[in-house]
Amino acid sequence: MALMGGSGRRAAKGRAAVQDRIVLGGREIRYEIVWSNRTTAEIQLEPDLLRVRCPMSATRGRIRGILARHGDDILRRLGGIEAERRRRRARPRESFLYRGRWCQIVATEGKQSFGLKNGKFVVSTTVDGRAHERIDAAYREWIMGRALSYLPKRARLLGDRHGIWPSRITVRQQATRWGSATSKGTLSLNSMLMILPVRLSDYAILHELCHTIYPNHSGEFWALLESVYPNVKRAKEDLKKYADEV
Ligand SMILES: [Zn+2]
Repeated sequence: MALMGGSGRRAAKGRAAVQDRIVLGGREIRYEIVWSNRTTAEIQLEPDLLRVRCPMSATRGRIRGILARHGDDILRRLGGIEAERRRRRARPRESFLYRGRWCQIVATEGKQSFGLKNGKFVVSTTVDGRAHERIDAAYREWIMGRALSYLPKRARLLGDRHGIWPSRITVRQQATRWGSATSKGTLSLNSMLMILPVRLSDYAILHELCHTIYPNHSGEFWALLESVYPNVKRAKEDLKKYADEV
């Protein structure tokens, strides 16, 4: 989970965080800076987020310098994460996730079709060496259809409930993040949120809604999120279990 949109540095109980972006090897990479009472800088690369933890004295310019120096290493590690993701998708599957449930895939030979029937994904396709790739693509297309009819409506409903009104909501398939938001109020939601149980997709939506108010991971941001979603900590932990399935 991450967000975007540059913003001013906000102080929050001796700790502050902002989002920034840098071009490494011709590729734009978003990252988060977290300042705290530490003495050295550390680069953390999670599947969905590059984070730099650094001492309070580190300037944004110095942090850019650190990232540029480690550019090759960062790109190599990112490449590894992405290659693993591709390998996973090309593997034959027996089930797909939908709303937190693993639904068995039943494949038959025939004209391409895809649907959920009685808790099982029923797929017709040409059965050959590339069938699993077509099935994966059909699943993602099906998920997108569900996402388009559900996510914007759900985001409006949750926003209404807490008085947070995004100006625009888009749904896209994204490989590395559940969603993003800008301080101008644009919400971008990953269609793959549909693989999650409702309580976790609600968490991800509320997380991004709160980012339209605080475009960072400051103390104020987490306080706002806690006030609209109880047990943020558990949701964050649970979300990690699904990161590999996106
Ligand atoms: Zn976030």
